[in-house]
Amino acid sequence: MHGDTACWGVDVPHGQDPADGAAVDLRTFFGRATETEWAVAGRAVQLVEWGRTHKFCGRCATPTLIADNERAYTCPTCRLMSFPRLAPAVITLVTRGHGDDEEALLARGVQWQIPMYSCLAGFVEPGENLEQAVAREILEEVGIWVADVQYVASQPWPFPHSLMLGFRARYDHGDIVCDATEIMDANWYRRDALPMIPPGISIARRLIDDWLAS
Ligand SMILES: [Zn+2]
Repeated sequence: MHGDTACWGVDVPHGQDPADGAAVDLRTFFGRATETEWAVAGRAVQLVEWGRTHKFCGRCATPTLIADNERAYTCPTCRLMSFPRLAPAVITLVTRGHGDDEEALLARGVQWQIPMYSCLAGFVEPGENLEQAVAREILEEVGIWVADVQYVASQPWPFPHSLMLGFRARYDHGDIVCDATEIMDANWYRRDALPMIPPGISIARRLIDDWLAS
C-alpha cells in the first residue's frame, strides 16, 4: 500500500512493454518520482526479480509454489522455503587529516564508463560483522588499513537486491595499492579539489555531501 493506493509488481515479458512509452527503468525513474514512490518501485523490482530466480528448489530442483501464509516460495517435494533475497553491502568514505587539509579516499571502478570517483564498496561475507567487512574491503581494494569505523545510514539498493550500509572510517596506515581487477584508480582528495562524484541517487553521494558539509 502506498497511502490508500494498492501497488502491484508485475513481471512484464521481454518485448511486451506498454506501447505508450510509459515504461522506464528504475534508475531513470529516480528524480521523476517522489522518494516514497521510488522506494515502492524498488521493492517491486526486488520482489519480481526474486520470483524470476526462485522458480525451482535450490536443493532438489522441483518447481516451487508460492507459500500460502507468508512471503516465500516453498518446495512441494523437500519443503525447502526460500525468502526474498537481500545482499548486505558496505560502502565507506575514508578520510585522513584535519580541517582544510582533510582528504577523502575516492576510487574509480574498472567497469565505470565515465571518470567518476566514489566511496569504496563491497558485499559482506558470511561470518563477518559489518565493521570487519568495511576494513577488509578497503584493504583488499586499495591496500589501506582503517580505524574508527562508524555507521552513518543505509539505503535499499534494488540493483538487483542489495542493502547498502554506509560508513565513515579514518585512515590508519598503508599506501594506496589498487586491486587492478576492481579499481582503476584511487586517490586522496581535498574538499576543494574533488573529481567527478556520483549523482544524488546513491548513498555514496550522501556520504560525500555530509563530509563536504562538515
Ligand atoms: Zn526441494
